[in-house]
Order: sequence, then structure tokens, then C-alpha cells
Amino acid sequence: MGGRYNGDDDEVKKIFDTCIKNDCYTLINGKVTRCTRSLMGSVIGLYPDFTNDYVNLRKSNNLHSDLRSFLLDKKFMDACRYCNGSTGREIPAGIQLDKNARKNPSFIEHI
Ligand code: SF4
Repeated sequence: MGGRYNGDDDEVKKIFDTCIKNDCYTLINGKVTRCTRSLMGSVIGLYPDFTNDYVNLRKSNNLHSDLRSFLLDKKFMDACRYCNGSTGREIPAGIQLDKNARKNPSFIEHI
């Protein structure tokens, strides 16, 4: 997540549409969502509880309708307004810091 609010709906929709996590269905504490980052971010206290980003299976009064609407009508998640999705800088897998760099966190800013 980027952390900065993005108020441009068209851009946020593009970020969501191209995100590799936009169909990462997750069930946590009775809440089903399409994005792990959104729900886990709120569970661990990093982000607000984006109540539009999930369907609460335990509290829904019309589960079929709520799920259908959530899955078919939602253009993007509220959390996407704070996220770069798959559009940010890519960090190659498998790169490890050497011992000296691990002891000097400022090194990470130069990668
Ligand atoms: S919050 Fe981020 S990771 Fe989740 S679907 Fe939106 S852009 Fe993708």
C-alpha cells in the first residue's frame, strides 16, 4: 500500500483492474473480501476498517444479494485509493541483503 489517498476514480479503477490481487478472495473473521491487503491491513491495525471492501457473512441480512452486488458491481476497493496495486516499482525476487546492509537500514533506501 502506498499510503497516499488517490481521489481519481478512473485511475483507481485502472489500478484495481490491473492488480494481481483483485481476485484474491479471503475469508477472515466471517468477512469475505477480494483483496487480502485491504482486510489484513485493517485486522492488524495499519488501515481503517474499509467496511465497503467486504461482506460480513455473519451480519448480512440478504447474503445472496450482498455477495452478488459485491462481486459484480464493485468497481474497486476503498483500500485501492491508498494502494499502487501492481503498478508500483517491482522488486526482484530472491535478492538478499548482505550482513552489513542488514545492520544498516539506511542502505535499503538506496536499493
Ligand atoms: S487494495 Fe491494492 S492490492 Fe488490493 S485490490 Fe486494491 S490495488 Fe490491489
